[in-house]
Amino acid sequence: MYRCQFCNRVSRPGERATKVVTERRPAEYPSRGKAQKGREASRSKGQEDPGGAGYEIAKERIACSTCAQEHLAKEAAQEAESLGI
Ligand SMILES: [Zn+2]
Repeated sequence: MYRCQFCNRVSRPGERATKVVTERRPAEYPSRGKAQKGREASRSKGQEDPGGAGYEIAKERIACSTCAQEHLAKEAAQEAESLGI
């Protein structure tokens, strides 16, 4: 059992908890040329990890299924808005 961190409702026994990401932070990953070290040389050729950019989870909350769905819908709406759809 758990308490939903959105509506503060205590779950029913056996009810599934859903983790909801409420905050993300941009992250950059440097290239890792030696990431494949130790592997077979022929296989690792040209497969170096180039790194990149993305998002890391900054904050996570436990939600009941109702709140998780609401949060997802809200997030989708916000994203559509930011894209001008
Ligand atoms: Zn809830």
